[in-house]
Amino acid sequence: MVSAQSYLSTRGGSSGFSFEDTVLKGLASDGGLFIPEAIPSLPTDWQTTWSTKTFQELAFSLFSLYISPSEIPSEDLKRLIEKSYSTFRAPEITPLTTLRKSENLHLLELFHGPTFAFKDVALQFVGNLFEYFLSRRNEGKSAGEKETLTVIGATSGDTGSAAIYGLRGKEDISVFILHPKGKISPIQEAQMTSVLDKNVHNLAVVGTFDNCQDIVKELFADTAFNARHKLGAVNSINWARILAQIVYYFHSYFALQKAYSNKTLIPRFVVPTGNFGDVLAGYFAKRMGLPIEKLVVATNENDILDRFWKSGTYEIHAVSGKEAEGGIPADGAKAHGFGVKETLSPAMDILVSSNFERLLWYLAFERETTADQDLSERQKKASEKVKEMMVALKTQRGFSVTPAMLEEAKSDFDSERVSDSQIVETIREIYTASDSKYVLDPHSSVGVTAALRHIASNGTQVHQVCLSTAHPAKFSHAVDLALNGIDGYNFDDVLPDQFKGLAVAEKRVEDVAKADKELVKEVVERLLEGGKA
Ligand SMILES: *Cc1c(COP(=O)(O)O)cnc(C)c1O
Repeated sequence: MVSAQSYLSTRGGSSGFSFEDTVLKGLASDGGLFIPEAIPSLPTDWQTTWSTKTFQELAFSLFSLYISPSEIPSEDLKRLIEKSYSTFRAPEITPLTTLRKSENLHLLELFHGPTFAFKDVALQFVGNLFEYFLSRRNEGKSAGEKETLTVIGATSGDTGSAAIYGLRGKEDISVFILHPKGKISPIQEAQMTSVLDKNVHNLAVVGTFDNCQDIVKELFADTAFNARHKLGAVNSINWARILAQIVYYFHSYFALQKAYSNKTLIPRFVVPTGNFGDVLAGYFAKRMGLPIEKLVVATNENDILDRFWKSGTYEIHAVSGKEAEGGIPADGAKAHGFGVKETLSPAMDILVSSNFERLLWYLAFERETTADQDLSERQKKASEKVKEMMVALKTQRGFSVTPAMLEEAKSDFDSERVSDSQIVETIREIYTASDSKYVLDPHSSVGVTAALRHIASNGTQVHQVCLSTAHPAKFSHAVDLALNGIDGYNFDDVLPDQFKGLAVAEKRVEDVAKADKELVKEVVERLLEGGKA
């Protein structure tokens, strides 16, 4: 039976994975990404019955469409959702604010979680899911028999801290996050190293972010080490992260309806994009039936996605620079001098977008197969198409889609590319000419720049909701570039209380004197032993 509660891999066409499989495996064993076998449709009365729901209630209604109650009973799912969002500072979880009423320009604030960035919305939930599934598997087992999970990742900032805050204090899970010593922003370093839970370990590696990332890859490839410690990852391709992000599209849709007492309003969502996880959640919302005019993919100068929407060709370009966090670079790309450009919006500095493969599958399914074909044949064909494209990405650093696939992509999405100087300009413009002297972070500024362009060429008819992915205090460098010297601006005014004590808070961090896999293995095993004592 085809069900939205059962999953297949974008590369294999093999199916029947449970939600638990997708969460714990992350990546399918054929290298593909998990997608639901069918996109669920909304209950016929959703417009009325869902319109008054809280964020948590909406999450429950939406998640229930994708997770079978035989896997997670309703009461458990409700509890997991409550727990996940109890760590947020805003009662609405993701509040909607208006930047310019006269221009129908709105901002959806996704940064009210523990690390002040949008990744919390997903990772708070994913951390609880990990714990839930593990503790169920471990029920009644003695300490020695218990399944444990060792999550290892490398970070240059955002992902690592959101993962740490998602997994801190979780039963039977240890988390090791490698960062290049002295090379990440002081706020992000302090955010991570001030977490003192016993299961959290920060490794400050003398070396670069690339070194850290390489070591993590080597550890995953080390079959003996991997088998001994059951390595897990919390990267951006985990299906549960996409699922959790669908909620705020619905929540903000209803918030807008309410604010304007207008039930026929169809918003345009503008999304600062890196690995394509955030905007992909919007695509699922749209396919489920949420009225969305367009989803706007807003990139920084690492613009592989913008170039795709303009040309139909997805191609890695040569720019010298560091390798990105999160993205899965094509083999050998780095060796050939391909790298990402360092920009003012570092969380979007990617070479390729790891979640884009999921969209490609749907584009192939919709336009390279026909509705009169057998469903499993169609799925198989779409997967074959995806496999071809992924091989071409590896061997030729790119591929082109058919005109029909590009047309399909354009029917749901627009794209924009935003340069560093435009990021700075927009932060300044919104501060000096918004309804409330709003201070944007550089990532959110990428989206708002794209929205302002739309207004300049198309007017203010459509309501635009720009997703705001980080608190400005996390990226003080760009904010200062834009606002220093402007009358009335003082960075301390935007600094949240939570950041003020960070510098002097107690810290725990393990130094690793050399970027060396064997040395990291030693440290990990020593700390794991210590954790048991
Ligand atoms: C991760 C991140 C993004 C990019 O989101 P994707 O899902 O990777 O497209 C944008 N802004 C911030 C602040 C982020 O941390």
